[in-house]
Amino acid sequence: MEPTMEKDKKELLINLEGIFKSCEERAAHYDANNLFFQEDFEELKGAGYLLIAVPEEFGGYGMLMDECETLTRKLAYHAAPTALALNMHIYWTGLIADLYRQGDKSIQWVLEEAGRGKVFAAGHGESGNDIPVLYSTCKAEKVEGGYSFTGHKMFGSLTPVWDYLGFHGQDNSDSENPTIIHAFLPRDTQNFEIKKTWDNVMGMRATRSDDTILNDVMIQDKYIVRKVPAGFNGIDGFVLGIFSWALIGFGNIYFGLAKRVVDMVLETLHKKKSISLGRPSMAYHPGIQRDVADMVLELEAIEPHLDTIAREWSQGKAYGAAWGIKIFAAKCHAVEAAWRVVDKAMDVMGGYGISRNSGFERLFRDARLGRIHPSNTYITREVIAKGMLGLDLDYQPR
Ligand SMILES: Cc1cc2nc3c(=O)[nH]c(=O)nc-3n(C[C@H](O)[C@H](O)[C@H](O)COP(=O)(O)OP(=O)(O)OC[C@H]3O[C@@H](n4cnc5c(N)ncnc54)[C@H](O)[C@@H]3O)c2cc1C
Repeated sequence: MEPTMEKDKKELLINLEGIFKSCEERAAHYDANNLFFQEDFEELKGAGYLLIAVPEEFGGYGMLMDECETLTRKLAYHAAPTALALNMHIYWTGLIADLYRQGDKSIQWVLEEAGRGKVFAAGHGESGNDIPVLYSTCKAEKVEGGYSFTGHKMFGSLTPVWDYLGFHGQDNSDSENPTIIHAFLPRDTQNFEIKKTWDNVMGMRATRSDDTILNDVMIQDKYIVRKVPAGFNGIDGFVLGIFSWALIGFGNIYFGLAKRVVDMVLETLHKKKSISLGRPSMAYHPGIQRDVADMVLELEAIEPHLDTIAREWSQGKAYGAAWGIKIFAAKCHAVEAAWRVVDKAMDVMGGYGISRNSGFERLFRDARLGRIHPSNTYITREVIAKGMLGLDLDYQPR
């Protein structure tokens, strides 16, 4: 007989197909009105999407990274901002599930809470810090029973709905050995405020990635999940897991978006006419055909790259320190190639593409943001080059 969970998983996947399409129908409305994807969130949560990476023993579907990324990519095809914001929750649960399966049960409570329906967001972005997670402008000070944090976190996707904000601060009390303190902020904590900064941003508006300001916020020891050296030297399994799940997720989101754009182009081209072509549509134009082929060539290369990395991570391939290069390269390749696809699509779509009604203009704006997500274009090249050249990534000045 088929195990129950396998059956449930099949049901989930069937349900999600329909919900993803509903998300697509709402996407333009959220974008035009600067709204959080509340209805998407409720439907997806109700169907079990937020449980995909949570192990079965905590009420989830126990999917490994490769399966989760397939779903992330599918959702992004229909509603990229929704997929992007929920990627923050998926990445926390996914990486902590990996640690749990490897025998590290120290953060098991996150999986228990996620199984009960709690939502986890990410508070790593800080202005003036191009290497978030490994360094922090947020001050962490040891106090009786925990740590106090003071700092300004930006780009907090899922702001309207998170129950816990996973974030980090830096303890500089030993100036020779600064330490990064990773913690979770429960929503009912005192001394933090949300600053609405997300209205009318260029793209990915429905993520509602507002700022969070921490003003001497006391976090109890039970919510302090890691203390590691600042910098690249502090990359343990937990920190590597953040990078891996977050960045491979970003790559899949912008890839899903680019796939959607190519499908839109293919559909539109048959309706695009030319008075002088003597053919039924612009689909017959050799220049256009070349651009279409170039777009498809990009897609054909991104997909196996992302799939390989997600599969190898899921199988526990022993790349050791080279994992950093693998993860950064996959994310960078995916978002840069996805952008080339979407940028070329603007040429092919022509004037119609810039009108709101086309739906393309919104996807164009969303797609451009892939390259500024960490790791951005500059730090990616720095990590790959220094890593391959055997240089010390922590050496100062950079
Ligand atoms: C759609 C999207 C969603 C994201 N979601 C998350 C998330 O959920 N969690 C997370 O941790 N990170 C998230 N990231 C943020 C990411 O981690 C980066 O921090 C972000 O891409 C910007 O990094 P930066 O160093 O380029 O920003 P910076 O350019 O250093 O900072 C941008 C912010 O700093 C201020 N600022 C900086 N310089 C100036 C200036 N000269 N004048 C005035 N104001 C200034 C602005 O207010 C602006 O909001 C998200 C990014 C995107 C694009």
